[in-house]
Amino acid sequence: MIRFHNTYSRRKEPFRPLVEGEVRMYTCGPTVYDFAHIGNFRAYVWEDLLRRYLKARGYRVTQVMNITDVDDKTIRGSAAAGVSLEEYTHRYIEAFFEDLDALGVERAEVYPRATRHIPEMVALIQKLMERGHAYESKGSFYFRLDSFPAYGRLAGLDRQGLIANFRVDSDEYEKSDVRDFVLWKAHKEGEPSWDTPLGSGRPGWHIECSAMSMKYLGESFDIHTGGTDNVFPHHENEIAQSEAATGKPFVHTWMHCAHLVVNGEKMSKSQGNFYTLRDLLGLGHDARAIRYLLVSQHYRKPINFTLDGIGWAGANLNRLGDCVRRLEHPSGTGENGRLAEFTRQTVDAFYKSMDDDLNSAAAMGFVFELVRELNSAGDRAELPAKNAGELQRFFGEVSAIFGFALGSELTLDQELEGLVANREDLRKARKFAEADAIRDALLRRGIVLEDTPAGVRWKKKV
Ligand code: AMP
Ligand code: ZN
Repeated sequence: MIRFHNTYSRRKEPFRPLVEGEVRMYTCGPTVYDFAHIGNFRAYVWEDLLRRYLKARGYRVTQVMNITDVDDKTIRGSAAAGVSLEEYTHRYIEAFFEDLDALGVERAEVYPRATRHIPEMVALIQKLMERGHAYESKGSFYFRLDSFPAYGRLAGLDRQGLIANFRVDSDEYEKSDVRDFVLWKAHKEGEPSWDTPLGSGRPGWHIECSAMSMKYLGESFDIHTGGTDNVFPHHENEIAQSEAATGKPFVHTWMHCAHLVVNGEKMSKSQGNFYTLRDLLGLGHDARAIRYLLVSQHYRKPINFTLDGIGWAGANLNRLGDCVRRLEHPSGTGENGRLAEFTRQTVDAFYKSMDDDLNSAAAMGFVFELVRELNSAGDRAELPAKNAGELQRFFGEVSAIFGFALGSELTLDQELEGLVANREDLRKARKFAEADAIRDALLRRGIVLEDTPAGVRWKKKV
């Protein structure tokens, strides 16, 4: 039985999806005004681990990740660069997918863009107006906080502190500034705007996630994720907007990852203490080691980021890779009973740890105990083919869940086959830009795709 920590109840709860065998989850995605930093990728890579684990546990997963391509920051950036919002965000959307590929993040099923869902947002605001949860002032629309008594539950806010009937126009604000928040911003000179039944203007940030999540996942769905900085005000506001409009519970399980920090401070653009993935790859670091660093710690514990940490992760990954390669050269005959028993116990402990709120740190700890045991059996030439086969199977599962190929050609091939299949699906769905991004990312890794009459083939660049 899988148990997840639910931010809403502040407890670990048994995970039961609303529809058996299926998980619908929504992930707050990037604001495409710049390259994402490695702190953002802590969130996206952890969400990928969650997705992969649910799949490994036999669930069908539908994941939706929004792309915020209109907000204060993207508008400011496009104005400074002197290009249209569309042109400005395009390059960062492309870069985002390239970075996801480099980090081995599986594609979500849908990446809705805010600018492509204005009618859905307008309809939601109209519904809130009809139900008395929203009001208009000078062409902007606001959520009426005192109309929604459950406001503040997710973030554990003291309702005494709420300042109703005053308004806040900016998308991001502190708990000390809880006010009626903006749903729709009246047109301002020099800003992009849409002509809609609400008048001319643009959406606030929070409404997009309510509108797009409910469009693709239904009014109630299983899991909503983000970093802890999303809890307030963003997710609190999403709950208010969605539940006030539908009268139904919005999300069953809220999951949030702790931050990637540098010297105790959240890595962020505004602090200036960030590395992008490109910075790190440019310094010669391996994307797989970065991924390892991000997924091998428990998601609810902060990760203190250092360049040495990437070195540590790379060394661990190499140890795992060496051990997997060793399995290709078994020794001894029959079965090593002690090692077989140790393997069974490790498999059990691994899945129990992952079932326990995705405790990847504990799970990897067990894997490394097995590595030690396996290496010493190998040193004594007591690693027969029967044991090696079971171990290979388990390491294959670990590598599929954690999303890093473990050294052997076999697992590398499997990863590539997965990417090739992913690209084919995207092409069939006529998502050519995303399909091409995979092809280009593979090319950068020295893999050439060939479209033949018999289907796609890949080969190493010579
Ligand atoms: P943003 O583009 O700021 O909305 O962030 C996108 C995602 O990255 C959200 O889920 C944030 O919670 C998450 N995030 C931002 N900074 C960090 C950080 N330093 N550590 C972990 N997650 C972060
Ligand atoms: Zn969101």
